[in-house]
Amino acid sequence: MPFDDILSVVTLSKTGQLEHFILTFGLESREDAGRATSITQLCQVARETLGEVDVREMQDAIYNIRPEHATFLKFLPNGTAVDFNRYRKLREWRKLLNADFNIRVQPGGRIRIEDLEAASGAPVLRPPLGLSSDDIRFATLAVDEARKSIEEGGARPKPKVGAVIVKEGKVLAKAHRGETPYLANHAEYIALEKKLKDEVLIGSVVYTTLEPCTTRNPPKVPCAERLVDRRIGRVVIGTLDPDPRITGRGILLLRNAGIAIDLFPPELMSQLEELNRDFTRDRQTRFVQDKEQRQTPDAWLDLFREKQNLEEEVASLEAQVPAFSVRPQVKAGKDSIDLLNDKIKRKKRQLDEITERITSLR
Ligand SMILES: [Zn+2]
Repeated sequence: MPFDDILSVVTLSKTGQLEHFILTFGLESREDAGRATSITQLCQVARETLGEVDVREMQDAIYNIRPEHATFLKFLPNGTAVDFNRYRKLREWRKLLNADFNIRVQPGGRIRIEDLEAASGAPVLRPPLGLSSDDIRFATLAVDEARKSIEEGGARPKPKVGAVIVKEGKVLAKAHRGETPYLANHAEYIALEKKLKDEVLIGSVVYTTLEPCTTRNPPKVPCAERLVDRRIGRVVIGTLDPDPRITGRGILLLRNAGIAIDLFPPELMSQLEELNRDFTRDRQTRFVQDKEQRQTPDAWLDLFREKQNLEEEVASLEAQVPAFSVRPQVKAGKDSIDLLNDKIKRKKRQLDEITERITSLR
């Protein structure tokens, strides 16, 4: 049984998941008569991947499958096949699905399976360890939110971020960075302080596509601290902050506050990395450049040589200033001495600047 396929549609609604399940289950058989099964068996198998499924739900799901996608046949002892579709308008239609029957998937059913998988948006999505199918659903919602963030302009690319706040399995708020009318605001901030200001959020789960920030210019409060203040129980994070000087600090802060942490599944991480590649490249290259400038010995050496040259120049200029007391015979005009002193002052200023740059490079 292709459990992977079933799990691949966990982002669909329950109805969609059941439809996908029934069609893929029926497809397993290459018999013309279709795959023999019963409601009980279908429920049992479906529970392994979809959680609790009861008989009525399964019957309804079968009822809603279109005849061009699959037919449900009951074989009479004499070998005659009775098509469920002919009896679906009867009040007692459920009874027809009580005992064993066969699922025969039609060519249209294969296309329907593909459509359902495409609609799920993530055909290879499977919950990794530590995540439930609900987690995947809410994480996917957060990614959808992040996609709504628009380019804000400015000198550096801004991240596209989405956040979803869930309490007892229900979505309380969704937000994305810079959404109208909260331009340039962080997604978590909008969700926590603009949308759920008066809500009690103790123990809630926050799905955020980017590691919550830990530094902001005062009086702004970093999102990680806000999450702690609101006593969020668990934070599920899409990607770490790509700036190597910041990476992991959000997690550390939340962990120190006793908040449980999980990460999005790799498939969603890849989507986010793709979505924010400009932002990521910017933050990572900026840091690498800073670091190189600071550490390249050549840059430092060049400045040091320049400094030495300037020191020599200043020394030789100062030597030209007539020392009347020592060499009273030298007759220098006042103007030329002033010019010389000005030149020395200029060179000394340059020397100060270079010294400062050398110090900053260390
Ligand atoms: Zn923030």
